[in-house]
Amino acid sequence: MSCDFSQSEIEAYLDEALPASEMASIERALRADLSLLQEVKRVNGRRDAGLHTIGEIWRRQRASCATREQWGSYLLGVLAAEHVAYLDFHLDQIGCAFCRANLEDLKQQQLELPDATKTRRSRYFQSSAGYLRHDPDSSV
Ligand SMILES: [Zn+2]
Repeated sequence: MSCDFSQSEIEAYLDEALPASEMASIERALRADLSLLQEVKRVNGRRDAGLHTIGEIWRRQRASCATREQWGSYLLGVLAAEHVAYLDFHLDQIGCAFCRANLEDLKQQQLELPDATKTRRSRYFQSSAGYLRHDPDSSV
């Protein structure tokens, strides 16, 4: 294959997910390299047909992923109900492997460090006071 770019780079290009300098270099190459142009057309055509690669699906899902800290709050039960519902959906319906791995890792940490978790729990309440509208004393 004469194409200088990997399929994942081409897909990232189509998603406009590359740094500007890489976007520019692919655009330059597209003008000079007919086989690359055909490859981009092929990738784009397949996307239009709804056949997405695992990598592409993963990237799109990652856009809606929660941070590790949010998953920590989720485990501690300090999130608002609608936020919990969103995370449950993300985990169970979308089946995000990245977040599941993150969550499992955090669960493991909490099992190993129950005291640290308690400390963190009170810190979460302090740092999110007024945002989560939870009274730490009534919800524990
Ligand atoms: Zn996720």
